[in-house]
Amino acid sequence: MTQHAVVISGGGPTGLMLAGELALAGVDVAIVERRATQKLVGSRAGGLHSRTIEVLDQRGIADRFLSEGQVAQVAGFGRIRLDISDFPTRHNYGLGLWQNHIERILAGWVGELAVTFYRGREVTGFAQDGAGVDVQLSDGESLRAEYLVGCDGGRSLIRKAAGIEFPGWDPTISNLIAEVEMIEEPKLGIHRNARGVHSFGRAEYEIRDGQVVFKDVGPVRVMVTEEHVGDSTEPTLRDLSEALIAVCGTDYGIHSATWISRFTDMTRQAAAYRDRRVLLAGDAAHVHYPVGGQGLNIGVQDAVNLGWKLAQVVKGTSPESLLDTYHAERHPVAARVLRNTMAQVALLRTDDRTNALRETMSELLSMDEPRKRFAAMMSGLDIHYDPGPNDGNAHPLLGRRMPVLDLVIVNGSRRVFTLLHDARPVLLNLGQPGGFDITRWADRVRSIDAKYDGAWELPAIGAVTAPTAVLIRPDGYVAWVGDLTQRGLADALTTWFGPPAAA
Ligand SMILES: Cc1cc2nc3c(=O)[nH]c(=O)nc-3n(C[C@H](O)[C@H](O)[C@H](O)COP(=O)(O)OP(=O)(O)OC[C@H]3O[C@@H](n4cnc5c(N)ncnc54)[C@H](O)[C@@H]3O)c2cc1C
Repeated sequence: MTQHAVVISGGGPTGLMLAGELALAGVDVAIVERRATQKLVGSRAGGLHSRTIEVLDQRGIADRFLSEGQVAQVAGFGRIRLDISDFPTRHNYGLGLWQNHIERILAGWVGELAVTFYRGREVTGFAQDGAGVDVQLSDGESLRAEYLVGCDGGRSLIRKAAGIEFPGWDPTISNLIAEVEMIEEPKLGIHRNARGVHSFGRAEYEIRDGQVVFKDVGPVRVMVTEEHVGDSTEPTLRDLSEALIAVCGTDYGIHSATWISRFTDMTRQAAAYRDRRVLLAGDAAHVHYPVGGQGLNIGVQDAVNLGWKLAQVVKGTSPESLLDTYHAERHPVAARVLRNTMAQVALLRTDDRTNALRETMSELLSMDEPRKRFAAMMSGLDIHYDPGPNDGNAHPLLGRRMPVLDLVIVNGSRRVFTLLHDARPVLLNLGQPGGFDITRWADRVRSIDAKYDGAWELPAIGAVTAPTAVLIRPDGYVAWVGDLTQRGLADALTTWFGPPAAA
């Protein structure tokens, strides 16, 4: 039986990102993917939020995405736009880029790393024991892994076979989405009427003065609210025609559909992200309505949270209990996304009272403080992992994303994110050079002396006191803030990067 340290079921955005993270850490990882190629039928995510661009920047690959997409102010709440151009980040914007391109670029990066692919095959089941997991594939082959991660989407077989509950809320709205030819030309853009929200657009567009300008030619991408919820059959051109007539009074002469699919506001989250040697990430762990464009983004960020932890456990540098911090940190993040999407779905209703509520919300979000808070939430920049027990005076950086700083180090200047390209932890000493001794973690943690005289500012929080030193995790979150007394440093190093090497 072929063995791998980690097998990932599903090579969508989450599985690809996780494989990249594990491969960077030198772990033998394989992806089993149902699709024979990365080609994606249909349109799903429309782009990336600021924090996701930052995590890609931490790996040195953000430019690959930025060069193909359209930079724009994409953050919003219930379709109320939220501008983040004044946020203290190098990426104070979002990126318009369809999911098929995001996956292609991610797969290109993963292809440069040591990742094994089993394409055109499905995981059909697994059995775990104390030492590993036997993973059954649809071609009759089996793989043996130390850990299995289900990145296999909302209908996750891994989640179901592990018996992990998926509690939440049944759908209240249903949408059809399709790419079709039309005899008549509808007014492109997003429309609201008493029947709900619908939209027409084209795959290719440009952002001009902050506005989406669609190409004049090509098939039309249509999204329409269905009259009834709960139809689980494959949607047809006839279903789309009927839905359009019900909402718009005409189907614009639709024909020649390239694809048609359905999505709803079903909102559910896995009760546990881990069952012993089996873990879940991305849509396998959480599903919700796409409003706000967060699903792919939080899936990729799940992967970046899990990757280095799983790598350390596989390599034996950290105990298995480190994996529990994955659920502890990421479950609340998705729970918050579920809550905000449910609130946004309510705001999208088109009755007079909801319209009044949305206008009120819009007024509120035009004020600076609420705008900053909601924009930081929607763009993933406000994530605050619980720093655990502390003396109540924790520095605001603790558990938050490390800001993008331009540092001066021995060989010249360096951006903080560049120090994270190889996905290893860094102790950044901004005080007296050579002031820290972490010899017993030197095999895992890089200690870097640097100078930085600029401001320290966090999105939605504002200026924070300049720290003397910070311990940065491979995912870019701050694990310790302190000074040359090194108080608490050994504990933080042990918690996050394993016990010290023997003296
Ligand atoms: C209409 C729509 C619009 C959206 N817009 C946005 C947006 O703007 N922004 C955003 O962030 N998100 C958006 N999303 C959500 C986003 O598409 C998902 O959150 C994202 O695709 C999740 O990635 P994933 O890798 O976790 O799962 P998936 O993309 O579902 O990938 C799962 C992979 O697993 C494979 N697979 C499944 N079962 C098996 C098996 N048994 N064995 C092997 N392989 C298997 C599948 O082939 C697939 O490749 C949108 C979704 C929809 C439907």
